[in-house]
Amino acid sequence: MHPKDCIFCKVIDGVIPSTRIYEDEGFICIRDIHPQAKVHLLVIPKAPIASLEEVFPERGENKAALLGQLFDVAAKIARQQGLLPGGFRSVINTGSLGGQTVFHLHLHILGGEPLRGSFG
Ligand code: AMP
Repeated sequence: MHPKDCIFCKVIDGVIPSTRIYEDEGFICIRDIHPQAKVHLLVIPKAPIASLEEVFPERGENKAALLGQLFDVAAKIARQQGLLPGGFRSVINTGSLGGQTVFHLHLHILGGEPLRGSFG
């Protein structure tokens, strides 16, 4: 379930300030407030979707197209930010056991420095 009091909805609406580096009809990209790498960005769909679980529900139509758009936007931003062609890490945490703390779908982009090949 998408939470009523959703932080990223407030970020999208501009109620909570953020460092917005990209916006189009469907997505925004902001800088993470607690960066885990030299560059740490969050690509956030504007649609109120809680997590990857809701993208691929047990029943009903999936939202696979939205996920394609999410990665398309991420690659575009990574190029704009100079992370490509070098490389970057993309992460989607799903559910509390997956480390998700904000229950509005988002993709982490990490880079700007060499990253270790682990998932610590
Ligand atoms: P996750 O743990 O995958 O749900 O990621 C949530 C991320 O959102 C964390 O890395 C937080 O540091 C980040 N975050 C939380 N609130 C804000 C905010 N207001 N602006 C920018 N980043 C935020």
